[in-house]
Amino acid sequence: MENIKSEIENLRKTLQYHSNRYYNDDAPEIEDYEYDMMMRRLKELEEQHPEFDSPDSPTKRVGGKADNSFESVIHTVRMESLQDAFSKEELYDFEKRVLETEKKPRYCVEPKIDGLSVSLEYENGVFVRGSTRGDGDVGEDVSGNLRVIHNVPLMLKKQIPYLEVRGEVYMPKKSFARVVDRQLLNGEKPFKNPRNAAAGSLRQKDSSVTAGRGLDIFVFNIQQITGATLKSHKESLDFLKELGFNTIPGYTLANSMDEAAELIEKIGEKRGELEFDIDGAVIKIDDFEMRSSLGSTSKFPKWAVAYKYPPEEKQTKLLDIEIAVGRTGVLTPTAVLEPVHLAGTTVSRATLHNQDFINEKGIAIGDTVTVRKAGDIIPEVLCVNEKSGQEIFRYPEICPSCGSEVVRENGESAIRCINPDCPAQLLRNLIHFCSRDAMDIEGLGPAILENFVENGLIKRTEDIYALTYDKIESAQLEGFKKKSINNIISSVEKSKDNDLAKLIFALGIRHIGAKAGKLLAEHFKTMEKIMNADVSDILEIDGFGEIMAVSVVDFFKNEDSKILIGSLRENGVNMNAKAVVNDNRFAGKIFVLTGTLPTLKRAEASKMIESFGGKTSSSVSKKTSYVLAGEEAGSKLDKANALGIEVISEEKFMEMIK
Ligand code: NAD
Repeated sequence: MENIKSEIENLRKTLQYHSNRYYNDDAPEIEDYEYDMMMRRLKELEEQHPEFDSPDSPTKRVGGKADNSFESVIHTVRMESLQDAFSKEELYDFEKRVLETEKKPRYCVEPKIDGLSVSLEYENGVFVRGSTRGDGDVGEDVSGNLRVIHNVPLMLKKQIPYLEVRGEVYMPKKSFARVVDRQLLNGEKPFKNPRNAAAGSLRQKDSSVTAGRGLDIFVFNIQQITGATLKSHKESLDFLKELGFNTIPGYTLANSMDEAAELIEKIGEKRGELEFDIDGAVIKIDDFEMRSSLGSTSKFPKWAVAYKYPPEEKQTKLLDIEIAVGRTGVLTPTAVLEPVHLAGTTVSRATLHNQDFINEKGIAIGDTVTVRKAGDIIPEVLCVNEKSGQEIFRYPEICPSCGSEVVRENGESAIRCINPDCPAQLLRNLIHFCSRDAMDIEGLGPAILENFVENGLIKRTEDIYALTYDKIESAQLEGFKKKSINNIISSVEKSKDNDLAKLIFALGIRHIGAKAGKLLAEHFKTMEKIMNADVSDILEIDGFGEIMAVSVVDFFKNEDSKILIGSLRENGVNMNAKAVVNDNRFAGKIFVLTGTLPTLKRAEASKMIESFGGKTSSSVSKKTSYVLAGEEAGSKLDKANALGIEVISEEKFMEMIK
């Protein structure tokens, strides 16, 4: 009995930890499937041993807690979770429970989008507030960030008095690939999967960051409505479509669980071809009367079930191991596999992490291995099934790109090439140096840089500023005409005037991202001072730790770095921080936006207000300073008038910010 108690306690603690990492930090450490299986075991034990029941158990809670960086929203209709099923038998068990009270249920089967749940509220057809699910009862007000998602309608096609819908914000696979590429280029930790990327992007303080992440939404439920009566789920989805929502794609009706199970299988087969990630299919009773007669438990409705596809694992042959050199010189191994069909896609490559991982699993070329693809986009090798008899794979001792010796730094699992002139690193360094958040040299995109490196026009980073019209022209490269050469020269020229912060970031110092670059520039003001700073000087900056400070000092101690900076300075690259103009004319002022403005989008107006130090809110109260009203402004305008709050037009607003 003691054993059971301690297993329950352990499971609760572990689940609580992973739930925190998943919902609050957007950085899960284990696969969803592992999490689900632990949750199952806990449920089972709690059912068998009610004496150990606890109201605080993760089995009784929905999602994460709303944190206090956003205003809280109390959901008047609870945002429930879903009961899950991992096999067909469990689907038939669900049906059996339904049939105890209902006759001939009809089901609607939909893909289960792997994103995060939000509520959108509309008054008289105008979007007034959007929030996250949080723990189901209290979420976070993320209206500003939802407004910048193209498919969140700000105005509905019909003016119904009140509507609250529920949908799933997700990051399409294409956007995810772009965001991760950018993160890797900037030396940031990439998002683990599109679900975490979507959650992290929706909970940004700055809406313009959210806007750049390419999020999208599918709406799948009406939470509350006044002004229309609907009888079934299918009818409500059709109605939502008419109102202008992007509704859940591919919903299909089924007259029996057999039919529903077939539809689930079909969705599963197609999942690799979809432009978004799904983690299952949802089966819902279509008829609303039946739904209300079935009701809900404290956590989920009894009229729906989520079928979760198990992570797919398959065995295949490991044909080869390729080693690539990253921008920071780290060597990374990729397994080249005999292609296998897995979770809807053909997999021929998988990650092997590092040498330690290879040793631990005893992986050799020619082995038969198990490959798994679960929530993550990148498949991984799980274990060896049949040994080929060859020796365990060992990294080469020299860099596959430049041939110089590789090193393993103390306490690190990474093995790296530290030759600063290594061509593999040079190209990546150059791409980073010219990227938008760094020196923003538009004319020198990755393809052109690759061409210039291959043709010897650029051998080191500083060569960018030695490029001249004549040099490029005389290289006689295909496709480089007068106009394109002039473009390159002028964008290189323009970058000389960048702020010091961009230059620091562009240097690609380990552990120094765009934000840290900005902090260094703001604190020291000149390159000279940064180069002369010691670790303790740098540690004075709020937000800097030992590892970052040491990395900066090491970078500038290096002779190559000194040569690089000297050359950039000689070529006229700005080495000073620019004075920041702080115009906080709206400091302490709260604006509420309502109706359609003649030219400005809501997101634009909000951004302008924030850039002048003001705030926006979604509801009018005594604290509101101005209501910026456009055409067809509804109840907020009435409330502003009733409270005597100044109402301004877009024209007046533009005058205020002149
Ligand atoms: P859930 O993901 O099992 O299902 C409920 C959610 O599905 C709803 O919130 C809804 O937004 C969404 N959904 C998507 N498409 C839908 C549709 N067509 N109709 C209805 N709903 C739809 O439950 P949950 O409570 O959000 O999350 C629990 C899951 O999160 C676990 O099963 C686990 O897989 C994962 N999780 C993982 C970790 C980890 O460490 N890996 C930790 C915590 C939770």
